[in-house]
Amino acid sequence: MNKDIIEKVKNTVALTYRKAAKLSGEAIDYTKIKLKISELNAKLDDKYAQIGIAVYESDETADIDSICSEIADLKEQINDLNIKLCEFKNQKTCSLCGKNAEKDAEYCPGCGNKF
Ligand SMILES: [Zn+2]
Repeated sequence: MNKDIIEKVKNTVALTYRKAAKLSGEAIDYTKIKLKISELNAKLDDKYAQIGIAVYESDETADIDSICSEIADLKEQINDLNIKLCEFKNQKTCSLCGKNAEKDAEYCPGCGNKF
């Protein structure tokens, strides 16, 4: 059972990184974006902790699928905001690993992905 959960989490994370990102909503400044990313990361940590507790306690009733989809949603929101942040810093975000690179970089410094 635990292996299945770990596999599900891995798949969800991989899928999220590959998702194309779109930012909607009103114009928000750099500081607000950074603050929002911090808030979302805190929520993300909480979701990971929920899965950790469920796995540790072998809680068969825990709705891991639902937590995983919440994680995917949070990661997508963070990714969207990170892209917006890059525009302020004249950078771009790798669609595979999520690392930031200079706008004119040909390859990702994190994973070597060709932009
Ligand atoms: Zn990369």
